[in-house]
Amino acid sequence: MIMNSTKVAVVGSGISGAVCASNLARNGVSVTLFESARGPGGRMSQRREVAEDGKELLFDHGAPFFNANNTEVLGLVREWEAKGLVACWREKFGCFDRVSNKFVDLEQEGLISKRYVGIPGMNSVCRALCHEPGVESKFGVSVGRLEWLEDENLWSLIGLDGQNLGQFKGVVATDKNVVSPRFTSVTGRPPPLDLNLVTELAVKLNDIPVRPCFALMIAFAEPLSSIPFKGFSIKNSEVLSWAHCDSSKPGRSTSSERWVLHSTMEYAQTIIAQTGLQKPSNATLTKVAEELFQELQSMGLNISQPLFKKAHRWYAIPLDFVDRGAAFPATSIAREEKCLWDKNKRLAICGDFCVSPDVEGAIVSGIAAASKLTDVLSCL
Ligand SMILES: Cc1cc2nc3c(=O)[nH]c(=O)nc-3n(C[C@H](O)[C@H](O)[C@H](O)COP(=O)(O)OP(=O)(O)OC[C@H]3O[C@@H](n4cnc5c(N)ncnc54)[C@H](O)[C@@H]3O)c2cc1C
Repeated sequence: MIMNSTKVAVVGSGISGAVCASNLARNGVSVTLFESARGPGGRMSQRREVAEDGKELLFDHGAPFFNANNTEVLGLVREWEAKGLVACWREKFGCFDRVSNKFVDLEQEGLISKRYVGIPGMNSVCRALCHEPGVESKFGVSVGRLEWLEDENLWSLIGLDGQNLGQFKGVVATDKNVVSPRFTSVTGRPPPLDLNLVTELAVKLNDIPVRPCFALMIAFAEPLSSIPFKGFSIKNSEVLSWAHCDSSKPGRSTSSERWVLHSTMEYAQTIIAQTGLQKPSNATLTKVAEELFQELQSMGLNISQPLFKKAHRWYAIPLDFVDRGAAFPATSIAREEKCLWDKNKRLAICGDFCVSPDVEGAIVSGIAAASKLTDVLSCL
C-alpha cells in the first residue's frame, strides 16, 4: 500500500513522462510534473500559428503519428481511443523518389501498419494524462537542479531561476539531457543532475546520438490535388525526408490545407554547422523555410504559393521508421530494463532513447519507470 502523501517528481511532459505520471498516480502516488514548455507533449506537441488574415493554424510539427504493437501499449491506446483522445489515420501513404520523380504506393507494397494520431492534436494524450487525478502539472517550470539529500533520503528540486520546487521521495527524469555532459556544450550550464551521483547511468546516456531535423509548417488556401498521398517519405533528396498533410488527420479543421515537411538529418546538420547549436535566429528559420519549400516545388508536383510558411528546429529526433520505408535498428540503451534505474536513490530515467526512438518506445519506457518506482515505494 502506497500512502498518497508519497510524492514523486516527474520531469518532462512528453509521452514517456505523461504515461509514467498517470501510472504512478493510478497506483496511489502523488505526482508533481514539471515541464519547461508552456504546454504538454514534448516531441508530440501541436503548434499554434496565426495566418496573416488572423486565422488560427494548428500543426503537429513533431511526431506526425505513431504505431502500436506492444501489448501493454495497445491496451493504453484502446483506452485512449475509447475516450476519443486518439484515432486511426486512414489515408493513403506513399514514397516519392527524387531520382525518378515518381511516387510509389506503400500500401500496395504491403508496408502498412495502423497509424494513430491524437485528437484534436498529437498532444491530446499527454494533455489528458497530465491532468488526471493525482497528477499536479506545472508548465513553464524548468528543473535546473536535482539535489540528493543523503540525510533526509529525499530529492530536492530547484528551478532554473533558483526557486525551491519541493522535496520528493522519488524522481523520474524523461530527458537524457538531465545528466548528459552534452547539455553543457549546448547551454553552457551544468546538467540538472550531478553526474557523480549516477556515474553508471551517465556513461550510458553519453553515447546517444542526437539527430537534428527541421520541420516546415505550410498552409494553402486550396488542396494540393496533384499529390495522390496524404503522407509520403522522400527518397534520394538531400533536403527533404518526409511530407504529410496535417489537415487530413481526423478531428482537424479543414478550412485550410496544412502540410508539414521534415528535412533530412544531413541538411539539418549542415545548417547547424553554419549557424551553431544555439536557438536558430529568425533569419536562419526563414532561409530554411525557403529552401525546404523550394525542394518541394522542384519535385514537379504543381505546388501553389502557400498562405503561411514557417520552419522549426528539432534537436533530437529518432532514426527512420519501418513505417516510412526504412528499417534501421533502433537506438536502445536499456533493452532489458526499459529505463535507467537507481533503486537506492529512487531515480528513474526514461524516454524513447531507452527503448526505441519513437512514441511506442517512449510509452514502454514510461510504463517501466512507473512500475520500478511503484514497487520500491510500496516497500517503504
Ligand atoms: C520531427 C519528428 C518526427 C517524428 N516522427 C515520429 C513518428 O512518425 N512516429 C513515432 O512514433 N515517433 C516519431 N517521433 C519521435 C517521437 O516524437 C518521440 O520518440 C517521443 O515523442 C519522445 O517522447 P519522450 O517523452 O521520450 O521525450 P520528449 O517528448 O522529448 O519529452 C521530454 C520533455 O521533457 C521536457 N524537459 C526537458 N528538460 C526539462 C527540465 N529540465 N525541466 C522541465 N522539463 C524538461 C521537455 O521540454 C520535453 O517536453 C518524431 C519526432 C520528431 C521530432
